[in-house]
Amino acid sequence: MRTAAASGLYIHVPFCLRKCPYCDFYSVTDLESAPAFGAALEDEMRMRKDESGWGGHAFGSLYLGGGTPTALGSRLIEEILDAARRHFFVLPDAEITIEANPATITAEELSGLRASGVNRINIGVQSFDDCALSFLGRMHTAADAMDAIRLARRAGFNSIGIDLIYGLPGADESRWAKEMETAVAFAPEHISCYMLTLEPGTPMENDRRAGRFQLPDDDMAGRLFLAASRGLSDRGYEHYEISNFAIHPGYRSVHNSGYWDNRPYLGLGPAAHSYCDPVRTANIRSVSGYIDAIGAGMLPVETSETLDAAQQMMEAVYLGLRRAQGISFAAFESRFGVDFVSVFEDVSDKFAAQGRMVVDEKSCRLTPEGMLFHESIAAALIDRI
Ligand code: SF4
Repeated sequence: MRTAAASGLYIHVPFCLRKCPYCDFYSVTDLESAPAFGAALEDEMRMRKDESGWGGHAFGSLYLGGGTPTALGSRLIEEILDAARRHFFVLPDAEITIEANPATITAEELSGLRASGVNRINIGVQSFDDCALSFLGRMHTAADAMDAIRLARRAGFNSIGIDLIYGLPGADESRWAKEMETAVAFAPEHISCYMLTLEPGTPMENDRRAGRFQLPDDDMAGRLFLAASRGLSDRGYEHYEISNFAIHPGYRSVHNSGYWDNRPYLGLGPAAHSYCDPVRTANIRSVSGYIDAIGAGMLPVETSETLDAAQQMMEAVYLGLRRAQGISFAAFESRFGVDFVSVFEDVSDKFAAQGRMVVDEKSCRLTPEGMLFHESIAAALIDRI
């Protein structure tokens, strides 16, 4: 367990062995350019440190996401981590997380990752049901996922996260309860539960539009969400953010908490985003474009926007309501010079009366029932800005 620190470092590894039909994250399946990507990444670190002031930040978390970082192999990961430590001040007790696909995990690789300083692993289990995994187009079976969790524990990981996806066609509460039961039996320190949502243009969304399957209706989706909230809370997990549960506050994701808490983060690699109040940038969403830009001595930044005070306030409301602790009135006033209650009171009172929000002297936060309506509640508050 460790404490949160100022900034987060995110490294986007844009490679996957195969593309899952529901996935909208940027990744390619041709790993040939992986060594060139590794070299470009180190060049980006050098440029960011010298040109963008990130050399002065202390990083309390480093997150290798993707894509499938474990597809690179532990040796290249070790080189990337060594480079990050050389170019940036990564705190000695930083949370260092890797996202892992069960199809790419071996005992040897896991030992290599531990030896290179990775201290948290987030395993993309998605489901313990082979039919569901096949529908999702995953490369692994339920048995592979279970083996991956066991191997990670044996390799010495004492902070293991499991990702689950719910809300597949034909989903019901009893099947979902079984999935959670299986997950809890492995005693992971962290569980993320994501509702299957389909972005336009993904093959699975095209299939849905063509009528090949139907997703559960809103009523069932709501029941599944509340089943996760209640079921995992009953088993001792803290529901600390809409999609996230930790066995203890010390096992909340330090890195992701930084996003919800408005801490600065530097994103390296293709399609990675960075934020340092008030500027947000996005890197080029192409491996070759990224490598070419760096080769030409340019920062691989595709878009950059400076958020004005109103936009920052909107983000603070939107992100603050994702967390179970909600929005602290004192923190809001100290950041924006605005009294939260006087601006939002009538809206927040309305949701409180519906049992979707709790408002006390210090904060306002969503109840689990309110989290179901996070988007519309946040939109109603944001309307007041
Ligand atoms: S492995 Fe993960 S990042 Fe890669 S395509 Fe599948 S869901 Fe997307």
